[in-house]
Amino acid sequence: MKQNMLMAELQKKAEACQNCGLRKECNQVVFGEGVLGKGLMVIGEGPGQEEDKLGRPFVGRAGRLLDMILESAGFSRERNTYVANIVKCRPPGNRTPLPEEREACLPYLQEQIRLAEPKIIILLGATALQGLVDPKAKISVSRGRFQEWQGIQMMPTYHPAALLRNPNLKALVWEDMKLVVDEYRKLVDPNHYSEYH
Ligand code: SF4
Repeated sequence: MKQNMLMAELQKKAEACQNCGLRKECNQVVFGEGVLGKGLMVIGEGPGQEEDKLGRPFVGRAGRLLDMILESAGFSRERNTYVANIVKCRPPGNRTPLPEEREACLPYLQEQIRLAEPKIIILLGATALQGLVDPKAKISVSRGRFQEWQGIQMMPTYHPAALLRNPNLKALVWEDMKLVVDEYRKLVDPNHYSEYH
């Protein structure tokens, strides 16, 4: 598939990138992974310690929780989902990426979105929401409602790292995921199977 080739080329370009100061502080670029053209994309903040070590997105504790949430809704990066982050290099000490770092990395994400062709994007946490859609938006206010962005339905929700800190948020994320499942059935696959909804 041509899209996979173009994505691989983009990954090579990102791996050689020095466009912001984050590259000097991290071990490696964590680009993104998953299946293209199946309708769903998930965008987080940036690589953490485990991701930086292994070179893959969402592989630490928060990543494993994300995989479980996605799986409960019938999604996975092996079958139908592409996952990526706002910045591809780990910010030191897992700090929030600065606006200029987000800006420097944004062209890679925009191209990933173009190649993954999602109908729905789940934005995990404030950095993803602010970096892509609205720098002033608040996740607590925006979550749970679809908003259209460049013809794509965007669902902001809490980042799994926030759920690890505050398990009370899990119920809200599951409410958001049920809306994602409904929308996916409407826009992508009417027969989409989800274990719990
Ligand atoms: S975070 Fe993005 S822009 Fe900055 S060096 Fe890494 S790949 Fe390049």
